Amino acid sequence: MGIEYAYSLELKRDISALEANQYCRQGRLKDKRAFKCIGSEDCQINLTCANFSALPSQWGVAPYYKPSKEGEEHSSNCPYNKHHKANSKNRLVSNKSSFKKTGHFNLILDNGGFTKSSSSSQSNAGRSISSIKHLYTTNVDPTQKNVKKRNADIGSLKKLVDVFESDDYDNSATTVKINSTPISLEKLFHSLDDHSELFKEIRVYFGEAKIYERNSEDNFYIIEYTMESFHRINKKMITRKPSILIYKNQIQKHRHLRGLQKYVNTNSTFNCYFFGIPTLHDYINFELKNNFYNILFR
Ligand SMILES: [Zn+2]
Repeated sequence: MGIEYAYSLELKRDISALEANQYCRQGRLKDKRAFKCIGSEDCQINLTCANFSALPSQWGVAPYYKPSKEGEEHSSNCPYNKHHKANSKNRLVSNKSSFKKTGHFNLILDNGGFTKSSSSSQSNAGRSISSIKHLYTTNVDPTQKNVKKRNADIGSLKKLVDVFESDDYDNSATTVKINSTPISLEKLFHSLDDHSELFKEIRVYFGEAKIYERNSEDNFYIIEYTMESFHRINKKMITRKPSILIYKNQIQKHRHLRGLQKYVNTNSTFNCYFFGIPTLHDYINFELKNNFYNILFR
């Protein structure tokens, strides 16, 4: 039986074999053997992704993980162990939602903003993403006695987006605490790719955007989402494309923003994430103020 999910040593998070294949073809993953089993806490045998680099047209079967050493056995607690009880095997072959975890996270903010681009290399704001997998509560086996339920800290927008976009978490049940108020990931992330109503709420607003320069003399660029959103003032409805003003010198100063430069005045779009409260008036603006880590693009 092929294994669908594993921990990627290169990305330091759990990914499906399908994602591994996709990331390999995008050049984001290099080593087909850099995976570990996540079937149980104590099973960490090395896994290899089969069909790691193959194009979909070349797949005989979809990509899957298998033990790197042929015949190596999973720990006895691991559902992939041959001798593991049959009832847990049934849960495994059901659907992948049974694998989804419910996480509980705290956002580490300062003056309403993130203070860095990535928390993986710094320790003061909590644990690195590589240890997150040990902190979630899993619903694979509800009878398991020693279920862990601790809050992991998230200190960067990048990590928050990683958790949201990972297939491993159930976004409707996974919560993030912002200033001690918990909110589900599903609610926290507000897509701007459909014509939607905005309120003065703290959210991660994301969608396709472009960046341009109004005048070459200006000392700023404008990031503009491609879809219009709307809000209401009194009885008036204001429809606008949300935009973000960003100073040219700040793009130079912040490594996580430098890549924006290549999109300026092109028609290419990128995914832009803004964390904060929209400014709603005759326009719709996301103001960075001095929180340059409240913006992320991909
Ligand atoms: Zn295992």
